[in-house]
Amino acid sequence: MLVDSHCHLDFPDFAEDLDGIVSRARAAGIGRMVTISTRVRQLNQLLAIAERYDDVYCSVGTHPHNADEEDGISPDELIALTQHPRVVALGEAGLDYFYDDGSPEAQARGFRAHIAAARATGLPLVIHTREADADCSRILEEEAAKGSFRAVLHCYTGGRELALKAVSLGLYIGFTGILTFKKSDALRALAAELPSDRILVETDSPYLAPGKFRGKRNEPAYVVEVAKVLAETRGVSLEEISRQTTENFFRLFSKVEA
Ligand SMILES: [Zn+2]
Ligand SMILES: [Zn+2]
Repeated sequence: MLVDSHCHLDFPDFAEDLDGIVSRARAAGIGRMVTISTRVRQLNQLLAIAERYDDVYCSVGTHPHNADEEDGISPDELIALTQHPRVVALGEAGLDYFYDDGSPEAQARGFRAHIAAARATGLPLVIHTREADADCSRILEEEAAKGSFRAVLHCYTGGRELALKAVSLGLYIGFTGILTFKKSDALRALAAELPSDRILVETDSPYLAPGKFRGKRNEPAYVVEVAKVLAETRGVSLEEISRQTTENFFRLFSKVEA
């Protein structure tokens, strides 16, 4: 069994054939999917999906691109929304300096509020960080000093230093189709180096279709392609990488029924 720990099934790209998407994932051996929230105010759309399919769960959070729009969301509000049985994680929240969406200040406030909610609930936080290694590292360190929390740095594209810092704080690193791209030698070197109990696979679909599907709409079934490259990179079998990443998923996303 493999797990897609990060997809966006509520995006309009999937509206036409959600049943088909989920059945193709099941047929490909994807045992669980987590559809990740990008706007707290749109949680109902995710809940409708997570309630419709037994093997799909969701998170609740504000993507850094939407940080201004949802500025001021409190840890208490997030904590209350995690009481729903299908909500198994916080996020995605974090820092994204690649695009101009979301001021850095609002992103940082949102990031810290989500960390506080993760700490209080014991649920994992899905962290989105792009072109923000130094600030992300500093916030993780400051927040960890206030009390531990669980998290994954999803769709990892940052440097080695931030990844190793995150691992030292007990966090996980998630890999997408970017791992399969030709130019991703440094990322593969990092993926080969990380401890086997800290790695996850994900699609971030509909974005980032891996390898042979590049340029097309991505979907959870294709997480197999990410796992294949991760296995090759680490010199283990696909069965072994499936076992490790799935075990890691259930350890981190402990509210998901095994
Ligand atoms: Zn993201
Ligand atoms: Zn995402």
